[in-house]
Amino acid sequence: MSRKYECPCCGCLTVDKLKAWSICPVCFWEDEGGVYDGDTVRDDVYSVPNHMTLAQARDNYRRFGACRKELSSKTREPTEQEIVGSYMRIAEKIKDN
Ligand SMILES: [Zn+2]
Repeated sequence: MSRKYECPCCGCLTVDKLKAWSICPVCFWEDEGGVYDGDTVRDDVYSVPNHMTLAQARDNYRRFGACRKELSSKTREPTEQEIVGSYMRIAEKIKDN
């Protein structure tokens, strides 16, 4: 299995190549370089292709299961292999709401 990277929005291992405009199948965030500051992801930077900041996208993901409400029918649950620590933290927050 090739190495995958964490989606900056939902935290699942769904990204083949970072900053390459791939769409996460779990939350539909488009992984674009604009929200990266080096290797750090910033949640307060407006992402042009995603039309929002990462903080807004994560909030939407917790509420609707997608980074935008209208995309919630296109997303899917993460597989066991895709679930890592950062996803679990986000999922915890979903349960709390
Ligand atoms: Zn994602």
